[in-house]
Amino acid sequence: MDLIQLLDLTKDELQTLLTDWGEPRYRADQIWRWLYRRFAFSPEEMTDLPKSLRTRLSTETRLHPLHFLTTLDSSDGQTRKTLFTLPDGPRVEAVLMRYQKRRTLCISTQAGCAMGCPFCATGQGGFDRNLSSGEIMAQVLFYARLLAVEEGRVTNIVFMGMGEPLANYAATWAAIRRLNDPTGFGLGARAMTLSTVGLAPAIRRMSHEPERVGLAVSLHAPTDELRDELVPINRRYPLAQLMGACREYITATRRRVSFEYALMDGINDSDEQAHQLADLLGGMLAHVNLIPLNPTADSPYRGSSKSRVRAFSAVLEDRGVPTTLRLRRGIDIQAGCGQLRARYGSSEGRTPTTALSADKHPGTGDHH
Ligand code: SAH
Ligand code: SF4
Repeated sequence: MDLIQLLDLTKDELQTLLTDWGEPRYRADQIWRWLYRRFAFSPEEMTDLPKSLRTRLSTETRLHPLHFLTTLDSSDGQTRKTLFTLPDGPRVEAVLMRYQKRRTLCISTQAGCAMGCPFCATGQGGFDRNLSSGEIMAQVLFYARLLAVEEGRVTNIVFMGMGEPLANYAATWAAIRRLNDPTGFGLGARAMTLSTVGLAPAIRRMSHEPERVGLAVSLHAPTDELRDELVPINRRYPLAQLMGACREYITATRRRVSFEYALMDGINDSDEQAHQLADLLGGMLAHVNLIPLNPTADSPYRGSSKSRVRAFSAVLEDRGVPTTLRLRRGIDIQAGCGQLRARYGSSEGRTPTTALSADKHPGTGDHH
C-alpha cells in the first residue's frame, strides 16, 4: 500500500481523509495545527489524538518525506545549509540565513534544474524531478522546528534554492498557499519571494494569483545576445517578452520587481553594459541586486573584482536605478545552493562531482 503523504494534502483533503476514516471533523484541525504550528515530526508527538489514530497515521501515512543527510554552518554561525535525501534518492538543499531580526529560509522547488544556466552549480548537475508541495513544505518545517527550540521563527522565505519554481508551478503555488494560510503556517505573502529564470507566461500567470509574493528575476545580461548564452531559456522568452511580463506583474500587484545580476569578470560587468541595463529598466518599478558571481567547479566564469562591482553599481545609481550590492551575504548564498549537493553527489549512489576532502568547509566559503 502506498503511504499517504500528509504534507502534500490541502486542509480540505486532510478533512476528507479523516472523515473517510470515521473521525470527527475537528481531528483535521488538530492535525493541521500539529503539522504547521507545532512542527511535529511524527504522529507520536500528537499527544491530544487518541492512540489508535496516532497508530493509524503512523502506519498509513508518511509525515516527513525528507531524510536529513548533513548540515553545514558558516564560520560566523549565521548561515546553515542542510542537505536532504528524498525517498527515491535525489538530494536537495535548504538554507537558513540569520540576520539581526530576520530569519530567512532559502528553499528548493526541484531536485536539480533543467534550465542549464552554465554558471550555476544546480544547472550543471542536471534535472532529477519536481518536488511535491509537501517536499517543499518539509524544508520549511524542518527549520521552523529548529528555530522554535530557540524561541525564534521563520520571518521570510525565498524560493531561490535549487530548481526553477515556475517550472514546477502547481506544487510551488500549493506550498505558498499553505504557508500563507492563517490557520496553518501563517506567513504573509509579502514575506515570501520567488526567484525565476524568466518564464514569461508563468510570470503573467503569477500576476493573477491572490498571493502577492515578491518577484525576483535572474537577469544577468542586458542584451538578448549575451543572455542567450548565460541564461539559455532566453532563446525561448527573449528580453522583450520577459520585460513585458514583469511590467504586467508590477501593474497587477503594485510591487517592485527585483532583478538579480551576477557580475562575471569580463563578461557582463562593463560600464557600457551597466548603461544598457539602466536603459532596459528605465522607468520601471525595479530594483537591481548585484553580486559578484560565485565561481563553480565546472564553469569558466569568474566573479568580478570588488572595484568593478562598485563601478558597475555607481553607473546604475547615477542613472537612478535602485541598486543593492551584496558583497558577502543575502542573495549570494544562492550561489552556494547546489554546491553542497555537488560535493555529496546529486543522489544516493551517484558519484560526487567534487572530492569531499578537497575542502574542509564545503559550501561555506567566503561568499557567506
Ligand atoms: N531558478 C531560479 C531560482 C534558483 S537560482 C533562478 O534562476 O532565479 C537563485 C539565484 O542564484 C538566481 O538568481 C541564480 O541566477 C543565482 N545563481 C546561480 N548560480 C550562481 C552563481 N554561481 N553565482 C551567483 N549567483 C548564482
Ligand atoms: Fe536553474 Fe536558476 Fe540555476 Fe538557471 S540559475 S540553472 S534556472 S537554478
